[in-house]
Amino acid sequence: MQNATTAVEPIVGIDLGTTNSLVAVAMWPLTGDAAARAPRVLPDDAGLAMCPSVVRFGEGEPVVGVEAKQRAAEFPLTTVGSVKRLMGRSLADAAGDLPYLSYKVVAGPAATARVEVPVGDGVKVVSPQEVSAYVLRALREQASARLGVPVRKAVVTVPAYFDDAQRQATRDAGRIAGLEVVRIVNEPTAAALAYGLGLRAGSGLRDQVIVVYDFGGGTFDVSVLRLVAGEAGGGAGGEAGPAAAADAFQVLSTAGDTHLGGDDVDHLVMQWLLGEIAAEAGQEIAAVPGVRSAVQAAAERAKIALSDAESTEVVLPLPGGRRLVRVLGRGQLEAMIMPLVERTLECCKRAMRDAAKQLAGESVSAVVMVGGSTRIPLVRRRVAEVFGCEPYTAVDPDQVVALGAAVQAGVLMQQQAGLGRSAVLLDVLPLSLGLETVGGAVAKLIFRNSATPCRASEMFSTSVDGQTSIKLSVLQGEREMAADCRLLGTFHLRGIPPMPAGIPQVRVEFAVDANGVLSVSAVEQRSGKRAAVQIVPNHGLSAEEVERIELESFKHAREDMTRHRIADLIANSALDLHWINRQLKQHAAKLETASREQLEGAVTRLSELAAAARQDWRSVSADEFHKVKESLDRASMRLHEVAIAESLRSQNIGDR
Ligand code: AMP
Repeated sequence: MQNATTAVEPIVGIDLGTTNSLVAVAMWPLTGDAAARAPRVLPDDAGLAMCPSVVRFGEGEPVVGVEAKQRAAEFPLTTVGSVKRLMGRSLADAAGDLPYLSYKVVAGPAATARVEVPVGDGVKVVSPQEVSAYVLRALREQASARLGVPVRKAVVTVPAYFDDAQRQATRDAGRIAGLEVVRIVNEPTAAALAYGLGLRAGSGLRDQVIVVYDFGGGTFDVSVLRLVAGEAGGGAGGEAGPAAAADAFQVLSTAGDTHLGGDDVDHLVMQWLLGEIAAEAGQEIAAVPGVRSAVQAAAERAKIALSDAESTEVVLPLPGGRRLVRVLGRGQLEAMIMPLVERTLECCKRAMRDAAKQLAGESVSAVVMVGGSTRIPLVRRRVAEVFGCEPYTAVDPDQVVALGAAVQAGVLMQQQAGLGRSAVLLDVLPLSLGLETVGGAVAKLIFRNSATPCRASEMFSTSVDGQTSIKLSVLQGEREMAADCRLLGTFHLRGIPPMPAGIPQVRVEFAVDANGVLSVSAVEQRSGKRAAVQIVPNHGLSAEEVERIELESFKHAREDMTRHRIADLIANSALDLHWINRQLKQHAAKLETASREQLEGAVTRLSELAAAARQDWRSVSADEFHKVKESLDRASMRLHEVAIAESLRSQNIGDR
């Protein structure tokens, strides 16, 4: 008899975007390690996750993706991009979009929009579905290559406002590409699914209102969704045919602007740069076509740099061996683009007003960020202000829709395999969350089975003198050593004022909200420097996996405790030895011979033991290590007294 799971084919999730498309998978292979089954994008042979939704037609096979996009300016009439704007629409409907397209659009059967490209001596007329099919085929091949099995089924996303004709056109595109579109999912719904929203079976959550803010390269969309409690689990578990997680979401309203995006931000920076060039080198230089395209690229680079840095330098070579050098500050950029950001917020307000008619006063419980332009700090800040909550940014905003489509596909595969819903969907945290400490041990901040929402904080410090940055590794699991836990993410707290090891006070806070999204922040108390990261801890985690992790931790409990203790002893000994050796160098002469010899003996013993423990933690006894460390503590008391007396004396001298 064939095992049910081996008969199931992979179903991938596809974000068929206006400018870029991506393919992702989740819960595949159907059984096995959670980390390996977490939602992930399937890149192309060159390792690129995003495939530009661009197709260039010619005599032979069309060219798809990066190459077609790169040479678009060279072949404006045969390079077809943004074809999503034409999908399932009549020529009249699409009229507003035509000025933005470089190729010719004509009326086909039933007045539908068709693309006409010159090929050889004649012309070729293709439907938007056919153009999209080339992109889908490229993604299908990419997915098959990465998974090592033929891919024939997909969940494909569309904007929430797509009508039936547009959805049908998307299905047809799939069919032409040899893909069965097993489900069409709204993009905002997919984004919510990528955060695990709507997957929490039997949870006591009330109906939730979720806003999806999608600010991409060329378009802005906002959707207000209602996650219907109760159905969330039942719908996904589905007795009624191929019901799926996405069924738990209702679209209450949408608003947006089909021509507002990152390109407009670039345009503003470009205008400023062109003005600077005109002022410095003359109007005619600013008008040279080569200069304009260089300025456009520089504008986008500067914008992207300012999402991380406070300021950036723009260097532009100009004709005649001259160059323009300007520094652009984040504040300056923010002032320039504020009106654009406010326009998106106006759309949000409109969508909220429309949704309010169907709401009984519920407030927004989560805002999900989608699209590359949501990396702009001003955008995040203003969205947080308008909605009164920190938006979800943990999942890469370029990938979140594809990953969510993959989550939906994963649920369908699980059902087909008869595995039921084995994702972990509880109101409690299934596994503990913590941080890696010096020496590789884990400091748990939130323990397993804590009810969500929950939060916890702890103070940490530096381990090296003058250390100005700390790397924080966020871990999940029950074991005592970081290497045995799942690494959820890392981030750096930089800009700590240089101080001796152990002096800076860094408060690290873990907060898990009702949806299970974890926010970790670290604040150095003296300077106020802050860094934060957001993580979705339960991605791809199955009930079996949680059980396995639990069993492992029981099995290794005793050994793990010892190992953790020794790791802490090594780290603390290093700090102590460092301090003592430094003080000894300065004050050894002031110590009585007996105390000095005793101290030096204790230093040697502890150093040797720590070195042996570093080599092989099993070669030392934790109790003995502890005792030797304590005897060094005692032996160093006299040195402490001398050091304090000396420092007081030097202070007094300084005071006089
Ligand atoms: P999308 O259509 O979602 O792929 O979004 C692409 C847009 O996001 C383009 O306008 C990019 O310039 C913009 N973008 C990508 N990364 C960043 C970043 N780090 N900061 C600001 N904008 C970005």
